[in-house]
Amino acid sequence: MPGLRFLTPPRPISLPVLPLTIMNISIAERDKRTIWHPYTPQKYAPVTIPIVKGEGVYLIDESGKRYIDAISSWWVTIHGHAHPYIAEKIYRQAQALEQVIFTNFTHLPAVTLAERLLSILPGPFAKIFYSDNGSTATEVALKMAIQYWWNKNDTKRAHIIALRNSYHGDTFGAMSVSERGVFTLAFQDKLFNVLFADTPTEEDPEIHFQGLDESQTDALLSEAACVIYEPLIQGSGGMKMYTAEALDRFLERCKQRKVICIADEVMTGFGRTGKLFASSYCKTKPDIICLSKGLTGGTMAMGVTACTDAIHSAFVDDDKLKSLFHGHSFTANPIACAAALASLDLAEQPEFAAGISRIADRHRSFCQQLQPYQDKNIIKHIRQTGTIMAFEVNEGQDAYISDIRDLFTNKSIDRGVYLRPLGNTVYLMPPYCISDEELDKIYEIITDILDEMQLT
Ligand SMILES: *Cc1c(COP(=O)(O)O)cnc(C)c1O
Repeated sequence: MPGLRFLTPPRPISLPVLPLTIMNISIAERDKRTIWHPYTPQKYAPVTIPIVKGEGVYLIDESGKRYIDAISSWWVTIHGHAHPYIAEKIYRQAQALEQVIFTNFTHLPAVTLAERLLSILPGPFAKIFYSDNGSTATEVALKMAIQYWWNKNDTKRAHIIALRNSYHGDTFGAMSVSERGVFTLAFQDKLFNVLFADTPTEEDPEIHFQGLDESQTDALLSEAACVIYEPLIQGSGGMKMYTAEALDRFLERCKQRKVICIADEVMTGFGRTGKLFASSYCKTKPDIICLSKGLTGGTMAMGVTACTDAIHSAFVDDDKLKSLFHGHSFTANPIACAAALASLDLAEQPEFAAGISRIADRHRSFCQQLQPYQDKNIIKHIRQTGTIMAFEVNEGQDAYISDIRDLFTNKSIDRGVYLRPLGNTVYLMPPYCISDEELDKIYEIITDILDEMQLT
């Protein structure tokens, strides 16, 4: 039997050998020399905090200081950091099979994950397409929907519909269907045309096209390939919330005109809104759904695009040109699949649903506690859906680059909580394992900052 052959591993107990010049420099300084961080202005880039450990709701830095991760590390961490159960499953999978090309080959973690997802997804989904992040999940969804009509030789279905104020990712297709704003300014004329419908607001609760009456809207929908939407909460657009009823009325209309409905549940999936998926609040089910962030419990990069049999069948053809020519190197990575399966195991435990509804209850009373600040015009639009609560600070402009964010982030970091407002919008989206005491600490910091603002 041939022995195992690997490239020589480093000697197990040797200390990392760093050049002398690096040894006396802080990690933050070395970071600054070499790394370009996302969404970070490069001239006045803030000093980064090196994190050495994650533990439940906490991030722990080099000096041992602990920070409550009140926004789940960009909305991905649902069971807490470094969960031992998921870690164990990742370790075992890494020893068995770490990666395999996903054409010609398959593996049990991918198959089991597909079966389990299909059994819990909100709608009659039939196929799972794997990719590696939220943007790729939405790109795949758009390509499926556009090519569906191409495969059917239907040339009338020209329009792609999205909602104003939406966010679907940072790649070009995803940017095209997102609100055109500061994120997309430099690429404006390189993005494809999209028809934007108005998102419901308190004053105007319907989704509709500006200046179009009912029959014009129906005519437009009859020529639309697909509509993509973030159900109930528009995340990056500022945690804007709207009702399932308004969405249902619009989706119903789209369905009647055979428009393919794409639910982008990259953020709302896996319990964020109180139910496992936000689409479960709607009667009308999507034809395609996009998942990522919470999918692996926030441990590994993974995207999923699920579609119905009706969509998939348009790709089943003698003509090979009707294939979906799309794939990524790490499609269905076995370690990511194992992490997602472990995350689903945890989601079946009673603590999962209990955590979500406890956070929702606590948020709801905090919203009431904030009411006096709204009465005094310090904040506005206090709102909450499931584990997400948000409000806007009534000061400065409501832009992504607002100073409010730095104020809240810096003050909360000092006191051991990580908050990162979206412009003027302060929001909370904690991991579901957060305790009542930890929530109280976050709430207290927020009211303290608002009290200080009131004095100035
Ligand atoms: C974060 C997000 C994306 C993009 O996911 P990435 O993994 O960051 O590429 C897409 N859609 C929604 C609704 C998101 O919140």
